[in-house]
Parts: sequence; C-alpha cells; structure tokens
Amino acid sequence: MNCIFEKIVAGEIPSNKVLENDKFLAFHDINPKAPVHILIIPKQHYANFQEMDPALMGEMTKFIQEVAITLGVDKSGYRLVTNCGENGGQEVMHLHFHLLGGTMLKWTDNHAANTKDNF
Ligand code: AMP
Repeated sequence: MNCIFEKIVAGEIPSNKVLENDKFLAFHDINPKAPVHILIIPKQHYANFQEMDPALMGEMTKFIQEVAITLGVDKSGYRLVTNCGENGGQEVMHLHFHLLGGTMLKWTDNHAANTKDNF
C-alpha cells in the first residue's frame, strides 16, 4: 500500500470525511478551489478513470449523488471533474472525482497559453 489516498482509506493519513460506505469514500480536498470541494474515491485502487471497472462506476454514480445530497448541492448544482493521466493534469494516481460547488463556477479556456505547445 503506497498511494496517499489508500493511506487515507486505511486511516493512516487523516481526512475530513463527508460520507463513506464499504466501497467508496468522500472527503474534503485539502486545497479547496470552491466553497464546496470534495474528493470522491473508490476504496479499491484504480489508477484513474481509464482503469475503472464500469460496473463499479455504476455504484459510484449512486454514491456521488448521495454526496451531493449530503452537501446540499444536489439542487443548486455542482461540477464533477476527474483528471485522467498526464494531459488531464492528474497528480494523485488513484481515481478521484472532484465535486465542486457552493458558488457559480467559472468555465475556463483549457487550451495551453501557446497553442504551439499542443503539437
Ligand atoms: P488531481 O490533480 O486531480 O490529481 O487532484 C489531486 C487533489 O488531491 C488536489 O486537489 C489536492 O489538493 C488533493 N489532495 C492531495 N492530498 C490530499 C490530502 N491528504 N487530503 C485531501 N486532499 C488532498
């Protein structure tokens, strides 16, 4: 066991938990980018969304919906983001969804500042 989110699941690193069941965990992001910024993870290790078991993803969908209700953003709305791999800007290599809300979120231009950087 070596990844930081596995250590959070094991309780070796503390987290501010929002909701938990036997398969999934939701906790506050340590560096929030919005008034509500929660990370939602499967307890089993999957490196990223591309590696995720589609059947388990179905169950995770229900859990994420419950997190939104728990936080009171299910009606006001929220953004769900998962960064996958290098171009996605993923830093922690354990699948996680960012649930962002609590304010009207901006939508930014995701192109590199210099378009030549893309090629
Ligand atoms: P990503 O760039 O999509 O891999 O996002 C990783 C996220 O994990 C960042 O938003 C970090 O702020 C967050 N993070 C890293 N370590 C912790 C931690 N110990 N507890 C809570 N959030 C964390």
